[in-house]
Amino acid sequence: MQPNGITFIISAPSGTGKTSVCKTLKQKLPKLKFSVSHTTREPRNNETNGIDYHFISKNNFEEKIKHDKFIEWAKVYQHYYGTAFESIDSHKKNGDDVLIELDVQGASSLRKLNYKAVFIFILPPSLKELEIRLRNRNTESESVIRDRLESSKNEVQQCKSYDYILTNINIEETSENIISVIKAEHLRKELYQPTSLDLKSLTDQMENH
Ligand code: 5GP
Repeated sequence: MQPNGITFIISAPSGTGKTSVCKTLKQKLPKLKFSVSHTTREPRNNETNGIDYHFISKNNFEEKIKHDKFIEWAKVYQHYYGTAFESIDSHKKNGDDVLIELDVQGASSLRKLNYKAVFIFILPPSLKELEIRLRNRNTESESVIRDRLESSKNEVQQCKSYDYILTNINIEETSENIISVIKAEHLRKELYQPTSLDLKSLTDQMENH
């Protein structure tokens, strides 16, 4: 029988360390598939097209919206971000676990669609620490940093709509906690698949013992 893949959604305020956590997860869980989002923002120095994002023009993005190519999309910090059906469909068909990084609007859209997924929110240890991390990244201008810090106040208010809330004190611990969530979700009774004996023959054996 095809194993049941689970979709995991991860959201966090910008600068929380979500991308670093996801990079660590990629190394620790080579079988976990990552959805590559589309965006109209400019690539950062360390980013590669097709790996970190599909970087496309505003026109191209709007065409894709028009043709219903996205399962969800949102405007985040003046740029479009979206998850294309084609970025997740093949993984889901193969029964793989898929991880999607989304902002709070994207996660909320999927919830409204009753999209079956496990929603994980990563919190920064404090607003001060978030600011330090954003500045240390050295990738954004002052106004962008201010914008992102301001948005984070609204974003953290929404963490209660998620299934799991983690605080990213260090990347190693946070990625291990996410791995624990992934393992626990696979042990849910809804996904139970007997490996050697089915449940009925096991209970029959026990009753006849
Ligand atoms: P960044 O520009 O820092 O890479 O991402 C900005 C925000 O956009 C982050 O909160 C990130 O999770 C979110 N984001 C990335 N991909 C998507 C997506 O496909 N859809 C939505 N709604 N948000 C996304």
